[in-house]
Amino acid sequence: MPGDARLPACSTAPFRAAEFRSREEFETYFRENERLMADRWLREQSLASRSDRVVLDGTCGLCLEEAEFTSHTEGGEATAAGRVPNWREGMMCSCDRRLINRQRALLHYVLDTGALEPWMRVLGLGDMAAMEPVLQTCSARLVSGPGALLQAGRERDGLKNPNYHLILSADQLTKATAVKDLFAMLRRILVGGGQFVFTAAFDPRAAPGEAAGPDRPCDWSLIPQLLDGGFANAKACLYWSEEFGYLGPGNFIFAAQAA
Ligand SMILES: [Zn+2]
Repeated sequence: MPGDARLPACSTAPFRAAEFRSREEFETYFRENERLMADRWLREQSLASRSDRVVLDGTCGLCLEEAEFTSHTEGGEATAAGRVPNWREGMMCSCDRRLINRQRALLHYVLDTGALEPWMRVLGLGDMAAMEPVLQTCSARLVSGPGALLQAGRERDGLKNPNYHLILSADQLTKATAVKDLFAMLRRILVGGGQFVFTAAFDPRAAPGEAAGPDRPCDWSLIPQLLDGGFANAKACLYWSEEFGYLGPGNFIFAAQAA
């Protein structure tokens, strides 16, 4: 946010993630890291609580200040020791930005990987309200909110070249919408080499060929759909860090580059 000295020049701590370009790569990683996956799960289960919230200490990945991450137990998984919060939708940071796990991670990812630089023009799709202050500080131009995609399409039609460097989408895609036609449209409003980075409800174990219901989470088919839509280097990044407040078994960020 303007004047916020704690977001130093849009730089952050390294964002660590395991990257997969197919279901096979993911399954192999899971088999080879079975112990790590089990340890993470046990740690998360051990935090089950009968109180209404779980508060954990850590470090905000955006401002690198000590922080508290607050997760509500309501609606979480029931265990004998209480409820385990939905970590992905929780772990709200105590810093001014008040971002939850997946929102903070999405910004942490684009800042650390260079997908977002201060000179870039950014299109934000989905509910970006909580992330807008950071994006406005760390980009030259941000178009987001209802109608953002329509506006970008109109701009595209009026220009010789597509003009966004980064498209961010926050939990908007489903299996039914994460298809080639949409990706091809997004590709057209990006500069060559620009990136499309998003979070989405995702089921890494969905049976191949399952029908696309309206609210069905995305599955691994989105990788070939991205490639067919004109993107390269399409990948799923699995992240987990207790220090940065990224608990949860299914923390994925997807990224693809305009070919
Ligand atoms: Zn924070």
